[in-house]
Amino acid sequence: RAKEMGRSCVQFYSDSMERYAIYQVEMQRKLFVALEQGLLTLYFQPEIDVKTGEVIQLEALVRWINPDGSMISPAEFIPMAEKMGMINNIGDYILNEACAHIRRWNQQGYDRVVVAVNLSVREFQQTDFIEKVKNTILSHGISARSLVFEITESVFMEDMERVLKVMHEFKRFGIRFAVDDFGTGFSSFSYLQKLPVDFLKIDRSLVQSVVQGVKESAVVECIVDIGRHLQMKVVAEGIEDEVTLLHLERLNCDYAQGFFICRPQPAEEMEPWLSRLR
Ligand code: C2E
Ligand code: MG
Ligand code: MG
Ligand code: MG
Repeated sequence: RAKEMGRSCVQFYSDSMERYAIYQVEMQRKLFVALEQGLLTLYFQPEIDVKTGEVIQLEALVRWINPDGSMISPAEFIPMAEKMGMINNIGDYILNEACAHIRRWNQQGYDRVVVAVNLSVREFQQTDFIEKVKNTILSHGISARSLVFEITESVFMEDMERVLKVMHEFKRFGIRFAVDDFGTGFSSFSYLQKLPVDFLKIDRSLVQSVVQGVKESAVVECIVDIGRHLQMKVVAEGIEDEVTLLHLERLNCDYAQGFFICRPQPAEEMEPWLSRLR
């Protein structure tokens, strides 16, 4: 084999490739089973108005919880699902779950509840995406105003014209948009003013840096200003302590989200937050 031919490097390379391929196939099978068996559930984290403390919306964050209680992070399995071509099935499931929760909360009298759902680029690329989303919303009998779609800048790297068309169609229907993780990666201001976006979410790495110094703080202040001038509400993600929250308040940031306010929780734990809905 390769080793006998003295190509130990190639041998090593193909061994680890093989192990990785096996791992991927195994994870794919497990994720498929998890989806089938309903092991994927939504947790929720409130986004609050910095000034009033009112709850603006709840972000839905998917969790993979095994029967033994162990949890697998979406940061791990969502990128994997994207690679494996399973993200659209998972995305359909998540949207359906989110709508079911909205309907249940509506029935409990929380008719102003708004849930923010994270979307992957791949989901956005589906030709029947708009149709599917409309059908899901209509079948649950909820208002499109109770949904916000969170998208990252990677969506805009695709066919911008098409992305804009799809976004405007959703907007006409009543669904609003948030730009997630803003300020990281390939942040570009050139597209921002073109987008029909209601919320700008500043990435937590930037948010958490404000306490480090005046320059870090100035960067975040500028993003807050840009959001304001573009008529977007600005959300600071990843607030882990009171000092940071107070700092963001001084920078006139509109909304805040983070462990200091509330960790992502199962739907049943959301009651106290639902009663603070704006
Ligand atoms: P994201 O949309 O930016 O979500 C925010 C992440 O930050 C969540 O991680 C949340 O639990 C975490 N977080 C919230 N507050 C704090 C804080 O104060 N400190 C720190 N260190 N972290 C905080 P999570 O739930 O592990 O999700 C990670 C990412 O996975 C999300 O980032 C999103 O990109 C993706 N994701 C999660 N749920 C979904 C989903 O339903 N669909 C899709 N397509 N992606 C999802
Ligand atoms: Mg998000
Ligand atoms: Mg984010
Ligand atoms: Mg993120």
